[in-house]
Amino acid sequence: MKQSVLHIGFDDTDSRNGMCTTFLAYKIVEHLRKEKVRFLDYPYLIRFNPNIPWKTRGNGAVALKIQTQNPRLVKKRVTDFVKKYSAIDEGANPGLVFYENSAIPKEFSEFGKTALFTLVNRNKAKRFAAQNNIETFYMGNGQGLVGAIGAIGYSFDDHTFELIAYRHKSNFGKKRFIFKESVKKMQETIPKTFNSYDATKNRVLIAPHGPDPVFFGVRGEDVQSVVKGASLVKSQEKFSGYMVFRSNQGTGDHLQNELDMGNLRTFSSGYVVGQVVKTPRTERGGHVIFTISKSDKKADCAVYKPTGLTDIASNLIKGDLIKIGGGIRKASKTHGRTINVEFIEAIKLAKNTVLANPMCTKCEKRMKSKGKGQGFKCEKCGNISEDKVTENIPRKIKEQLYLPATSAHRHLTRPMKRISKFNTKIAFDNSKKWFYNF
Ligand SMILES: [Zn+2]
Repeated sequence: MKQSVLHIGFDDTDSRNGMCTTFLAYKIVEHLRKEKVRFLDYPYLIRFNPNIPWKTRGNGAVALKIQTQNPRLVKKRVTDFVKKYSAIDEGANPGLVFYENSAIPKEFSEFGKTALFTLVNRNKAKRFAAQNNIETFYMGNGQGLVGAIGAIGYSFDDHTFELIAYRHKSNFGKKRFIFKESVKKMQETIPKTFNSYDATKNRVLIAPHGPDPVFFGVRGEDVQSVVKGASLVKSQEKFSGYMVFRSNQGTGDHLQNELDMGNLRTFSSGYVVGQVVKTPRTERGGHVIFTISKSDKKADCAVYKPTGLTDIASNLIKGDLIKIGGGIRKASKTHGRTINVEFIEAIKLAKNTVLANPMCTKCEKRMKSKGKGQGFKCEKCGNISEDKVTENIPRKIKEQLYLPATSAHRHLTRPMKRISKFNTKIAFDNSKKWFYNF
């Protein structure tokens, strides 16, 4: 019988009050496995531009790639799942797409990249679907179509994995108890996992706090590591099952786009390189604001207290050459469009100098001024000198990359541990335990 390759993408099925797109994916995969479809890749969990205003929790979309004899039935079943599990009453705008073809055209991946860097209008997604033979199903205003198309078309320059474990329904909404020590130990023993535990704040980072079905998520470089990592997490609560996703989390992909300093588009994400032209100032609440420029273009930058980067930012001075990544915040009454900083890389630090009275070379004491324009004199031995001297003040920051505190990382933030690590696409291996339910 004829076999079809079917790409399935969906997004924005969740809401702030529970449910979650990855859980829907888990339920769909659980069903499709029973239907004996063949999986051609790990499910994708793709995070898009985190700086757009209407994201729910993480702006994550899911894509599946399968082979089936009966694409019509699969489409019907998946659509039923989306209808059943989407939190439409709570403000979700689910989008679901099907694309029946073995290869993904490169326009799809361009669409995905655009959704990573900017705000893509839902009407653009509807037009794109119509022009490219993509079948769509949506509820609400259809904003979810943007991520759904972007997810099936996503092309990875680098990627990671996340194992997400789900709770039994009877535990939804209840507090999660996970033994801290087991998570700390997991991070130490499985070096290919990341962002599980914040050792400086003594905090477990794998578990969410909301009412959603996610029990915990272990992020890492390959399937073996996240499966092994999850087996080391100790809790009294038994979870119902797990699924491993291939993801752009931890890649910093949303900041790889160079922003035009002269034309900052609200809600876009990316990086700029420029010189600090205004001494940073600390505002009420501890946030630090400064201005950078390149050629004759300028941009205001804001570093928020919870990032833990304010100490670094407040030590910048005029003339420092830096690279910063972040998202463009909408203009307000008090501020113009501002780059909300997500990392600071000091490329070339300026010398911090002051003019000071000369030192007496004999006594190693600072000379006193004899009056305006009359030179300087050592009070102890009478030595004299004409001019003030330029002195270097040691800088408190170094020429290096500075990232937010681990607990302030977003899904897409590239952690220090991954700075020089890039995974070219790891082949799908169906023999790995990427799906499990009890
Ligand atoms: Zn002296």
